[in-house]
Amino acid sequence: MSQKRDCYDVLGVARDATENHIKKAYRKLAMKYHPDRNPGDKEAEEKFKEATEAYEILADAERRQMYDQYGWAAFERGNGRGFGGMGHMDIEDALRAFASAFGGGMGGGFFEGLFGGMGGSRSRSERSRGADLRYDLEIAFEEAAFGAKRELTLDIVEDCGTCHGTGAAAGSKRETCTQCGGRGTVVTSNGFFQMRQPCPRCGGTGEYVRNPCPACRGQGRAKVSRRIELTIPAGVDTGSRLRLAGKGEGGARGGPPGDLFVVLHVRPHDLFARDGLDTHCEVPIPFHIATLGGEVQVPTLRGDVPLKIPAGTQPGKVFTLRGLGLPDVRGRSTGDHHVAITIEIPTDLARNTSDLLAAFGASVKETNHPRLAALRRKAKQFYSHKNAMNPTPGDS
Ligand SMILES: [Zn+2]
Ligand SMILES: [Zn+2]
Repeated sequence: MSQKRDCYDVLGVARDATENHIKKAYRKLAMKYHPDRNPGDKEAEEKFKEATEAYEILADAERRQMYDQYGWAAFERGNGRGFGGMGHMDIEDALRAFASAFGGGMGGGFFEGLFGGMGGSRSRSERSRGADLRYDLEIAFEEAAFGAKRELTLDIVEDCGTCHGTGAAAGSKRETCTQCGGRGTVVTSNGFFQMRQPCPRCGGTGEYVRNPCPACRGQGRAKVSRRIELTIPAGVDTGSRLRLAGKGEGGARGGPPGDLFVVLHVRPHDLFARDGLDTHCEVPIPFHIATLGGEVQVPTLRGDVPLKIPAGTQPGKVFTLRGLGLPDVRGRSTGDHHVAITIEIPTDLARNTSDLLAAFGASVKETNHPRLAALRRKAKQFYSHKNAMNPTPGDS
C-alpha cells in the first residue's frame, strides 16, 4: 500500500483528541472539501475522501484502537484480522459516510442547512417551518425620510395547492415505504463498514406515493407568485432590515411559514446628503448677502426655512439647524440639518451694475480683506529673504 497520511495529521488533531474534537475537525474539513462545494475539483475530492476515511477510523473507538496499535496495517486486506476494505474508499462511500455522520441524529441541521437537504432523510410527512427569505430593496431617499408603502412580488415555494403538500394524487395517499420500513435509510455492508444510506426506493423520505400528484409531480411543493404589502417607516437607512413575520417560504405539510427579511438600500439624493440621522446641504448665497448680512431661504426635509446670515460670512461656514434632520425609526429623536455656505460670484451683470461694482472695488481698503493682506505680507517677507541670499542681476 502506498504511503498514507496519518489519520491524526489528516484531521489536524492531537493523538489524545476527544471524540467531539475529532468530529469538529472533520466537519470543518468536510465543509471545505465537499464535492458539492468544489464541483469537478479532483484534489478537493481526494481531500474529502482522505478526511472522511480518517474520521471513520478515529470516530469509532474500536477502529481507533486498532489504528493506534497497528497504523494503516490494521486495515489492509488479507491481514488476517478481518478489517479489510479501508483505504479503498470511493467518493460514494465517502458521501454516504459523511451523510450518516451528520445527516442523522443531529436534527439534520448541518447537512440540510449547508447542502439544501441533499440526501437528507427527513420524512415528507413531517411538519416543518418554511425557510426565512431575504429580499434586497432599493428605495429613494424620500421614501427613507418620510416612509412609504411598497408592493413586492415574490416567488415563494410552498405546499402544492392541489395535494396540500402530500405529493399524492386525489384518492391516493402516501404509504410507508416497504423497502426501508419507513426509516428512510437502508443499511448495506461494505467490507468492514456497515453503511447507512438513503433508501433508493423512497429517496430517504420513508414514504412512497403510488399515484403522484400531477400538479407538482409528487414533489408536494410548488412555486407561487405572491404580492406583499410593505410599509417602510420613516427614518430607515441603508442596511435597515424589515421583518415580515410569516411572509417567507411556506411551511411543509401545514408547518408554519418562515419570515421575510427586506434589506433596504437607500439611493443617494442630489440635494441632501445623509450621515445617520443628520442631513447636509450645500447652499450658495450671493456675495453681497455674505458681505452685508441678511436672510436666505434654505431647503430642509420640511421645506424652506429662513436662515440668518451674519455680515462677513465666509464660504465654507456651516450652520446647524437643530432637529431638522431625519426622524429616528422609533420616533425617539431627530437628527440635525447642516447647511454649508458657498459664495456664488454673480455673472452676466448689467453695465450699470458692473460700474457700481468697479466703484466699490476702487473704494475698498486693504483692511477690508484681512486674509489677502496677510498673504501679501507673508509673500513679501519670503521674497526679501530670497533676494538677500541670491541677488538677481538687474535687481537694485
Ligand atoms: Zn401536488
Ligand atoms: Zn424507503
